[in-house]
Amino acid sequence: TLEVIARRYGVSVSEIRKWNRLKGDRLRVGQKLIVGVKEEKEKKEEVKKEPVAVSDIEKVFLELERKHEIILSNPQATKTDWLKLLSEYIRLYLLYPSSYVAPKAILKTANIYFHIYKNFSDSEALNKAIERYNFLIKNHPKSFEVEEAYYRLIQIYREVIKDKEKEKSLRAEFKAKYPKSTYLSKLEEKVEAKELKKTEKKEKEIKTKGPVIESAKEKIAISDIIPKKVLEVHPVTGEDYSRVIINVSDNFEYQANILKGDKDRPPRIYVDIYPAILDSKISKEIEIKDALLTGVRVAQFDERTVRVVLDLNSLTSYKIFKLREPYQLVLDLIGKGKIQKSYTKEAPKKGEYINLARQFGLGIKRVVIDPGHGGEDPGAIGPSGLKEKDVTLVLAKILAQKLRTRLGIEVILTREEDKFIPLIQRPAIANSKKADLFISIHTNASPDSKGCGIETYYLNFTTDPEAMRVAALENAASDKSLSDLQDLIKAILVNTKLSESRMLAEKVQEELVKGVNKYYSDIMDRGVKYAPFLVLVGTRMPAILVEAGFISNPIEEKRLKDQQYLEMVAEGIAKGIEIYIQSLKFSQTYYDKKS
Ligand SMILES: [Zn+2]
Repeated sequence: TLEVIARRYGVSVSEIRKWNRLKGDRLRVGQKLIVGVKEEKEKKEEVKKEPVAVSDIEKVFLELERKHEIILSNPQATKTDWLKLLSEYIRLYLLYPSSYVAPKAILKTANIYFHIYKNFSDSEALNKAIERYNFLIKNHPKSFEVEEAYYRLIQIYREVIKDKEKEKSLRAEFKAKYPKSTYLSKLEEKVEAKELKKTEKKEKEIKTKGPVIESAKEKIAISDIIPKKVLEVHPVTGEDYSRVIINVSDNFEYQANILKGDKDRPPRIYVDIYPAILDSKISKEIEIKDALLTGVRVAQFDERTVRVVLDLNSLTSYKIFKLREPYQLVLDLIGKGKIQKSYTKEAPKKGEYINLARQFGLGIKRVVIDPGHGGEDPGAIGPSGLKEKDVTLVLAKILAQKLRTRLGIEVILTREEDKFIPLIQRPAIANSKKADLFISIHTNASPDSKGCGIETYYLNFTTDPEAMRVAALENAASDKSLSDLQDLIKAILVNTKLSESRMLAEKVQEELVKGVNKYYSDIMDRGVKYAPFLVLVGTRMPAILVEAGFISNPIEEKRLKDQQYLEMVAEGIAKGIEIYIQSLKFSQTYYDKKS
């Protein structure tokens, strides 16, 4: 009954009734309820958006994630603010206790309780956090979130409660149940008290810095007043997604705005870049015909400001972020898609479960393969002169053929020839083509010529120095821009298909190593890792990066020249993708049965 639920979650019965417009005290299993979500007002936008009724579970969850980001970046957030957010996650769980967002919502609830304990010294909140982590471990043992729950619980017993016995037994239990968890190695690292303080300080700095997206407050030194050149404005457009990339010669500031438009003028987004002048070679008007964008115009607004205007078909939400070295401003426009309004209180229909399964990435029809590097960017070069860009292209073409014939899916390559494509354009190609999977192909390199083996990555921020090294290598970027990227990724991660990408990476890595191992028993399995790769930023589908061997190792370089080895690698990747797709079909059966 409601009373039991209310007591368990520390809310009142009347609150639950109010949220769900319930009169009685009883709930049916799988009962469908209304969720109304108001969009946050964005200060920089002139346009006020209407509250939108959303029935889609994922949208509700993402909206909460966004609220979480906002409150996290607000140093003045009160305990009441946090409790309010907490109640929304609890409500989400109560509404959809058997959906795939349920474990995510429980984890969030636990994390927020812990945050409240830490920031408002509320010891009751600590008890609740522990209780929620245990609840997740007990009730969702197969979820991706359970590993983080163990990790955080062990941390609490180690750092806060300082109960060594409990910590030890929990850790043994975790290791026995999830021997492959990446959180295990994190726990192995002995964190010294001093280092811990350092990281805590860093975390606080990040929090008070505010969200990376939309932050243009960064001050530029006086010596930097000499105008920078806006070199290129490059749109990559598709049906419900467009990315506009603006290349600038050096560091700059910017200000973005959205205008509603009227009967004479379309809605538009404009971005002012300063101090900057236009490069003489730039084309000032780019005509585009797609669902979101109708054109891009570039002009010298005043003597130190370049204005880029995006003419829109209709008002569209957008994200903007700045990258360094090379300096770029990136605007992502995302179509609204279908917003379904549903006010029925009936149980979910079969179709809705299938729709939910679709969000897992079911029905994979189109894959974009990205052969790393190309043109002026050779990638890593082997001791005998073999270039990474050539290996990745051959490999991508073999893989494409295998996927087409074996799985009958459409395959698009980001490049078919030896051509330079900027990193940030590559995920935009996958998004604009509505790809269901994105596979970026690379070969690894190390200053140590003995470095060897195969590894597969997905996008996330990391503290692992080896993963950071590979990301720096592939991003061709400095450490400074890499740490910016870490912050950026924290901000955009809510829109990234994290667990699906990890699952895809696991299947591909496993099959790849298994396949190659048949002929080369010495092949080293370096496992699945994550790092901030520019080439994966903003992907809207499960996305991975495969490092198919070390081109810097003379033995592996020789193999990378061998057509048969490349066949084997492509076969392994294709097999991994196939098994990933099969595992999705399995979960579809699961949802069909449940309904
Ligand atoms: Zn590479």
